[in-house]
Amino acid sequence: MAKVDPELFQAPERECTFCGMALEDIKIIIEHLNICSHPSCFKCGKCSAPLGDLEAGDNLWIHSRIVHCEECYDKLLEGGSLS
Ligand SMILES: [Zn+2]
Ligand SMILES: [Zn+2]
Repeated sequence: MAKVDPELFQAPERECTFCGMALEDIKIIIEHLNICSHPSCFKCGKCSAPLGDLEAGDNLWIHSRIVHCEECYDKLLEGGSLS
């Protein structure tokens, strides 16, 4: 029986979903979208407006697994594609 290396059980270093660089302490994690990014890399999936100033508890608009800024989400609602 081989011994299991305890290092295998340490959380792997996560990389930014957007730029691929290692993440340090400050990061945005959206587990169900598999997004893990620097605040400065976190952008609207539609218009690329920066969303990095989000804070815990802020609203986040997600549609079709794409992160939207408030403006793009408003447009989406106006387009009626959310019916
Ligand atoms: Zn990044
Ligand atoms: Zn946008």
